[in-house]
Amino acid sequence: VSRSEATKSSVSAQVLERAKKSLAGGDSSTMRVLPYHIPLVADRAEGCRLWDVDGNEYIDLNMSYGPLLLGHRPKAVIEAVTRQISEQGSQLGFPTEVTMRVAEKIKKLFPSIELLRFANSGTEACASAVRLAKTYTGRNKLIMFEGHYHGWSEAVFTKYHAPLEELPECGYGQAIPGTSGMGDSIKDVITVQWNDLDALERALAEHGPDVCAVMMEPISGNAGLLMPRDGYLATVREMAHDAGALLIFDEVITGMRVSAGGAQEHYLVSPDITVMSKAMGGGYPVSAFGASAEMMQCIVKGPLFHGGVFSGNAIVMSAAEAVLDTVLADREGIYGHLHSVADQLANGIKDIYSRLNIPAQVNHLGPLLAAMITKEEVDGLYNYRDVRRHADFERYIQFQHWMQQHGVYFHPNEFEPMFLSTAHSSQDIDEVLERWEEGARQCLVR
Ligand code: PMP
Repeated sequence: VSRSEATKSSVSAQVLERAKKSLAGGDSSTMRVLPYHIPLVADRAEGCRLWDVDGNEYIDLNMSYGPLLLGHRPKAVIEAVTRQISEQGSQLGFPTEVTMRVAEKIKKLFPSIELLRFANSGTEACASAVRLAKTYTGRNKLIMFEGHYHGWSEAVFTKYHAPLEELPECGYGQAIPGTSGMGDSIKDVITVQWNDLDALERALAEHGPDVCAVMMEPISGNAGLLMPRDGYLATVREMAHDAGALLIFDEVITGMRVSAGGAQEHYLVSPDITVMSKAMGGGYPVSAFGASAEMMQCIVKGPLFHGGVFSGNAIVMSAAEAVLDTVLADREGIYGHLHSVADQLANGIKDIYSRLNIPAQVNHLGPLLAAMITKEEVDGLYNYRDVRRHADFERYIQFQHWMQQHGVYFHPNEFEPMFLSTAHSSQDIDEVLERWEEGARQCLVR
């Protein structure tokens, strides 16, 4: 049986066919069932390994898109959650001490946050952060960036992977709605080319007095993992403040990942409002947004409402506390390991691509990595348009399919970064690199 036939008749494929009769599209996130995915229905996972319902084993470089900083099923999290469920309760419907402790621990890592609130997803926390900025400044327009994703809520879901021909030549313009069914608030969003101070300057010159905030992923993690140019973040902060606007960092991907204190710690630039999620929860659905005590009075005293039956859920908080305790107990050890395995993987891939003459750009900061294959040698990819123009999406998918069929999983969309965890060892990376070289020879050498 050929591989493609085996894939079509796999248990994963059968489960997905059956799922399509009860779940729209076969799953509850479109990101997980894209047409170019080889069907993979997960059965179980441990550490950095995952098994599908066919019994195939994978080294996981996707790690659920980022939450699994300590790997799948980390012992500390299992113990904390088990204790919480069996001794105290899953969802108590009152303030709890564990919620307070988690907030205190986050404040230790993120000095820009004086008061915070928990929510259940990045989407929710981003939506609240924007409402906070609008309420605090009394302004309605929001500046965001091409290729940046802040969840799918009414105020911020733009067509962040728009075709190049839909993007304005001048580098900024009215946001294109990301979905049907959106209300009017998206009309107040301006999208600007990222890493381009001139475009931001022009956008602020036109809209400045109405802009409540400039909101960004401090590392462009939904557009192939692009790093800010030297000084870019600090200058954007200054420009936003000069216009009377706030700076919002969406650290859903970068928070507690590139560094314990996120990108703001790594780049030494403090935003006015921070959003975080993924890594802080160790696999449980949590997010948070926070700011100065003064700004958060909009919630404390009103008029800004924020709520949620499950916001600060006790299971989720106990998991987050276990992650935070683990990180606070050994920051250097944990991030030292994460950076070292990521360096090993990035350098290994760079070496393979250079030996095999494969045009590519490998970007990484800590356990966050993108190995983009480009159509030709490029001098550097700095923003979404560069990646859209030069990345070889087709070949990347073919290569991803080969790797998946040979036991290494990462997302087939070249815009999506890879995530490592404390459970990835140097030996695991050696194994990945061995297959990477073979896969590159098979699929990428021209
Ligand atoms: N912000 C960023 C930077 C993200 O990457 C994501 C999700 N990938 C979100 C917000 C939305 O988070 P969620 O899917 O939990 O709603």
